[in-house]
Amino acid sequence: MSPDKASTRSASRVFAREFHRTLPKAMRGEGIWIVDSEGRRYLDASGGPAVSCLGHSHPKVIEAVQRQAALLVEAAPAGMDKVFFVCGGSEATEAALKLARQYHLEKGQPQRRHFISRRQSYHGNTLGALAVGDNPARRATYAPMLMEVRHIATCYPYREKRSDETEAAYGRRAADELDRAIRELGPENVAAFIAEPVVGATLGACPPVPGYFKRIREICDRHGVLLILDEVMCGMGRCGTLYACEAEDVVPDILTMAKGLGAGYQPIGGVMAHRRVVEAIESGSGALMHGHTYLNHTVGCAAALAVQRAIQEEDLLANVRRQGERLKQGLEERLGNHRHVGDVRGRGLFLGIELVQDRASKRPFDPDLKLHARLRDAGMSEGIVCYPSGGCVDGRRGDHVVLAPPFTVTDREVEEIVERMGRTIDRALRSLPA
Ligand code: PLP
Repeated sequence: MSPDKASTRSASRVFAREFHRTLPKAMRGEGIWIVDSEGRRYLDASGGPAVSCLGHSHPKVIEAVQRQAALLVEAAPAGMDKVFFVCGGSEATEAALKLARQYHLEKGQPQRRHFISRRQSYHGNTLGALAVGDNPARRATYAPMLMEVRHIATCYPYREKRSDETEAAYGRRAADELDRAIRELGPENVAAFIAEPVVGATLGACPPVPGYFKRIREICDRHGVLLILDEVMCGMGRCGTLYACEAEDVVPDILTMAKGLGAGYQPIGGVMAHRRVVEAIESGSGALMHGHTYLNHTVGCAAALAVQRAIQEEDLLANVRRQGERLKQGLEERLGNHRHVGDVRGRGLFLGIELVQDRASKRPFDPDLKLHARLRDAGMSEGIVCYPSGGCVDGRRGDHVVLAPPFTVTDREVEEIVERMGRTIDRALRSLPA
């Protein structure tokens, strides 16, 4: 960049910060009035961006949002003090990336702008989320528009752990790739590392080995890099604990959630931040530079509150753990010796089956055979909806199927899933050309 451009850019950044700093700070809203930190009252004649048709602080609306936020924060790992609600997983990813960037700006480290993520991960379908994700099919069309992101290997013991290595040694080796990537980029340039604790859509419910995320946390701390955990798919009880990171005994700086939060009844996602991130922003410019019309949407919050209460009142996390164990055991018994089942993995009611042409070499099926599509169709014939996904052309993974039944699943239904899934796999394999 030319020196002129660089100085224009840094001047506009200073201007943006100063502009934001000198704006009055809205402290509360009451009906049509907004009150700033000096107690000055402003008549809100625009309703924000023409949205606030009930005025500010309608008691019913406030109650729904506060109850939902309080419930999540109370149950969160220590220090995860604030949550705000967005409309889904991709937006949660975008907001998390922006929050990380803003944190470093507030800390006087504007050069920290690089993100590191993992291969075979999915973080959403908007441009920032596609950039940090690694779904080749979804990225291809937009590749020239995506910000540059360093991808490291994911923790994928089925394929990456060497047979002469312990799980602990493999976990250290996989995590240390992050250390190397940070050093190569220069720690002073790196904003955050983002990862799914249990990889969902692109890797078939793949949990890390024990200790991997602890080491990741240490590496992030050592270099002042924020840790963002994407729990959009694996969180909110899916893996048997409300937050998937509980099982890793790791507290992130930023955590995203969506799917299970509203259980699909309403479009809602959430971004949760650790106290240190919140404090940096509150003592800096005062507000997160992210916002959409439907931030903290009341109907979404009300639905999510109802969902989370049902989970608590019906003790569904206990059922997730119990039925998850049974389902995994059932699948292992039914498919463990199957010549084309390479791996049965997962945690809680978030399980994955990886199919391979050859068990010994773990060679995947030829992607042109479209085994995943055959699995979907065979599932329809067997009366089961599963979530198959294709293998990679470069042989980095086989076709896999994710199973993620409702938390209310019963003993009998678990047995049915095992039976029908077994028949589905056999039917799909029989449909392959001889
Ligand atoms: N992050 C993860 C881990 C996901 O699995 C998904 C969706 O599958 C997303 C983000 C994006 O969420 P949404 O589809 O709600 O935008």
